Amino acid sequence: MAPARTIVIGLDSFDLRLAEQWTAAGELPCLKHLLTTCPTVVLSTPSRVLQGTVWPSLLTGLSPGRHGSYFQSQLRNGTYALMDKFADRRVKRFYQHLGDRGVRCGIVDIPTDRPLRSMRGVQVVEWSPEFTYWHYATVPSSFARQIRSEIGENPMTTHWDSGDSQESHRKLCISLETSARMKAQLGSYLIGQTDLDLVFCVFGEAHKAGHWLWKYHDETHPDHELAPTGLKDGLRNSYRQLDRAVSQMIEGVSFEDNLIIFSDHGMQAAYRGDHLVDSILDKTGMRICDAPQSVPPPVSSTATPAQRQARQMFRNGKLAIKRRLPERALAALDRNKNAFPGMDWSRTRAFSLPTDRNSHIRVNLRGREPQGIVDPGRAYEVVLDELEGVFRSLINPLTGHEAVEEVFRVRREFPGEYADDFPDLAILWSAEAPIDAVSSPSLGEIRQRIREQRSGNHRAEGFLLARGPAFKQGAGRYQGDILQIAPTLLHLHGVPIPEHYAMSPLEVILK
Ligand SMILES: [Zn+2]
Repeated sequence: MAPARTIVIGLDSFDLRLAEQWTAAGELPCLKHLLTTCPTVVLSTPSRVLQGTVWPSLLTGLSPGRHGSYFQSQLRNGTYALMDKFADRRVKRFYQHLGDRGVRCGIVDIPTDRPLRSMRGVQVVEWSPEFTYWHYATVPSSFARQIRSEIGENPMTTHWDSGDSQESHRKLCISLETSARMKAQLGSYLIGQTDLDLVFCVFGEAHKAGHWLWKYHDETHPDHELAPTGLKDGLRNSYRQLDRAVSQMIEGVSFEDNLIIFSDHGMQAAYRGDHLVDSILDKTGMRICDAPQSVPPPVSSTATPAQRQARQMFRNGKLAIKRRLPERALAALDRNKNAFPGMDWSRTRAFSLPTDRNSHIRVNLRGREPQGIVDPGRAYEVVLDELEGVFRSLINPLTGHEAVEEVFRVRREFPGEYADDFPDLAILWSAEAPIDAVSSPSLGEIRQRIREQRSGNHRAEGFLLARGPAFKQGAGRYQGDILQIAPTLLHLHGVPIPEHYAMSPLEVILK
């Protein structure tokens, strides 16, 4: 008998709470069937600390401190410059370990991936991603022609701007539906290729829908708008389309093969207080900055959609050139940039770094930062203690409850050779309610409301469903971690788990 194949369907940012709510209401029939017949693993994920570490960790099997990648715009360690962070070139991805042992893989749209020219099998990068790290490419390159002629051009390949109007979001809904249908076709095609031993196909549609369509779905969201049915149900429709896509793909999966369906993390209302962080740092005297406060994102941009698209195309062009440069040349490009104008480094002990969810704070550490003033060791810990105390004491006046759910010391959470590439503190805001102000006995009240165009943001809980000869049968709830996916795949194909892997296979559901 031929060894079992493995089919993995990734549903990026497909939220388990929403999925359970809607399956209970009789929707998502395919998922409902799987949830009631297969073991379900609730996945913890490094997304709780730094959400952008999820995919690089899944790809490499490494804990974040050992790959150093957490956001598209990271501080270049040893400078005050921000760099565009691209897919890591140094560490082997899980499918390379499989390929080395003769396992042929079909890999589609794993976020933060890049093309691997020596790929055994087929690879598609960023055909319909939620965000771009690289650019659309296939291995072999001729596969792109085949996709275009047999499936078509995916509208999400060049989707650069989700806009801020009901009209643009209505168009987004149409593109997401087309994209999910096309991705299912591509996935089904690869499942039909019997010379592939493993197919790993990721859908980004629930991710995009969750960020942009949340306010139409959530009637309690302050930016909730009355919208036509298609838009009001845009998020739910996206889940329905993905349920159909999964159903279509697994029709081609034999019960002799192993099937894994997973989501890396979830989605909820985008309630956070990151826009208040610089004011908090200023009031505590941690940050001394002569420049005016950084301007929060505008309520609505005055640029026309065409202007925004032109800007994005220019940025994409610049990024396309940068991606091809070696690390040292990249450093030369950003070496002279000061990303923090007006900062008085001689008196600044801590400063904030870019983010799109948790807040990121970095200590101006002597010996690490160019003009660091905080000594390593005891003084560094004192600054972190003080900051942690400040953030933990914040109250959201709207609820009377704590505004911050957790403060993470990133170095402790993610030790490793790249720990210095990270912020020192990550602040996870409470998503219980909008955060238009914070107050504490020592700071008083700091108030500023901003409106984020992305009304949904991530919730750090993933899940995984498994079916097939290698897995336990029957429904059941288990706990696991997203970092166990890569070693599980290696285990399924008899490939030794590299010593540098952070975790072991998902034994809780393996037979
Ligand atoms: Zn996201």
